Amino acid sequence: MEIDTAYFKTKLEQELRTLTHELTSIAEKNPENPKDWEAKGGGLDIQQADPNERADAIEEYETNVGVLKEVEVRYNDVKAALKRIEDGTYGVCEAGGEPIEKERLEANPAATTCTKHMN
Ligand SMILES: [Zn+2]
Repeated sequence: MEIDTAYFKTKLEQELRTLTHELTSIAEKNPENPKDWEAKGGGLDIQQADPNERADAIEEYETNVGVLKEVEVRYNDVKAALKRIEDGTYGVCEAGGEPIEKERLEANPAATTCTKHMN
């Protein structure tokens, strides 16, 4: 069974755009390391802010850090899947080398293993 990589590539690229959008709304790229994202809110001038603002900013920052971690993991998974398409290794189970089920890729185009090796 041949995998329609063009189809999954489109899906992955769409997801990557959504994820990039999410990332830029909660984080900024580290200028010294463009691969690294930093949650927004960390640069608040704590001395200048009043206590309420400070609490809000800290809370926002902590929320952003949590969301950022999740989005970043997914972003990297999607990037890696697109790289596998380029390399011609897309849709092959990382654990056993067998083809990944189409249904599984449909549910998660960035899947790296077949259903059997999911965990
Ligand atoms: Zn497998």
